[in-house]
Amino acid sequence: MSTATRFIHQSHASRIVFGRGRRHEAAQELRTLGVRAPLCVSSPGSAAAVAGVAASLADGALAPAATSDRARMHVPEHLVDEHVRTVEESGADSLVAVGGGSAIGLAKAVALRTGLPIVCLPTTYSGSEMTDVWGITKGGEKRTGRDARVVARVVVYDSELTDSLPRSVSGLSGLNAVAHAVEAVYAPDTSPLVAVTAGEAIAVMTRALRGLDGGWNDRDRDEALYAAWLCGICLDSTTMGLHHRLCHLLGGRFDAPHAATHALVLPFVLRHQEPWLPAAHRELMARSADGGDLCTELLRLARAFGAPSGLRQLGVGLDDLAPIARRLAQGSPPGISPNDEESLLALLRALHEGSLAPPVDSVGDRRVPR
Ligand code: NAD
Repeated sequence: MSTATRFIHQSHASRIVFGRGRRHEAAQELRTLGVRAPLCVSSPGSAAAVAGVAASLADGALAPAATSDRARMHVPEHLVDEHVRTVEESGADSLVAVGGGSAIGLAKAVALRTGLPIVCLPTTYSGSEMTDVWGITKGGEKRTGRDARVVARVVVYDSELTDSLPRSVSGLSGLNAVAHAVEAVYAPDTSPLVAVTAGEAIAVMTRALRGLDGGWNDRDRDEALYAAWLCGICLDSTTMGLHHRLCHLLGGRFDAPHAATHALVLPFVLRHQEPWLPAAHRELMARSADGGDLCTELLRLARAFGAPSGLRQLGVGLDDLAPIARRLAQGSPPGISPNDEESLLALLRALHEGSLAPPVDSVGDRRVPR
């Protein structure tokens, strides 16, 4: 779709093992890495999944050095300290993360301090398993950074591990993944490969999410996980823009739930950017919505999965909007739409109300109703 003649493409290389039931190959993957005694981490919600993986490792004659189900959202520093001590005391030689972004985030933070290799078995669609981004929270402040030490050496995508995900978590996490692909399309460092990957990712994930109400079968879960992998590649390969920056601000300042916040914000930020998207990008988005309006479809899905109806529901007051707009405008993220305080405030007001403007066409720098 792209006629780009000048770009840089960069991503990190992880070995990907994809397929239902393939978690049982994790022991072999660890052996290939030359390690035999992992610390297995999960969050309380994915504790059953990590217990199953630990049992499967034992069947493969690999005894986990230790197991923990204590991962929490945003990686509190005291948990990192505790788990680094567990590594030292247990003699763990590797990290196995079974869970969503919280479990993977904890493994990354421990790897940053210990240098141990990570094997990820994702159970949500957060995409963290594909990136070199780490985050650690202390005293309400989340520090983030990029480091090659936190890149997973192997990612095992086994959709059986997602069978126990509640419908709303599947749906909201899927929309979180779509946000990575959408922002990759118009990222300043996008590439033809990213554009193709993002187009496929948005189309496959939105198709899967549309079918979630009827209940998912094994094939649907595979499709969603496949799309999540592609979305993770998009996240890893490009610089995220206005949407991710706004969600990060809301998460830090209002303790907003990660996936639900992404699900709410995405249709509004995309509507804000839409008139300034090149025609090829607009066509790509429209194709993902079967020719319909992607923003309307994303908002319908977000509501169906229980996302908040507006920023108001996240505890954001009307008085908070101007300071947020100021912060966003100051650290002006890479983007294509005008990111001055006034237009960002208009975006935030719409988000606060939860009222999505109708689609508009772009003609030069004028917005013309369709
Ligand atoms: P999460 O890991 O907290 O999981 C969401 C919910 O799903 C939790 O309640 C969890 O217990 C439950 N769950 C997970 N697996 C389950 C299973 N198999 N069965 C039943 N329930 C299960 O949340 P998330 O949305 O996956 O990740 C969010 C975190 O990841 C945030 O801290 C975010 O900042 C981080 N993140 C980081 C990156 C990165 O590149 N560093 C990318 C995306 C997200």
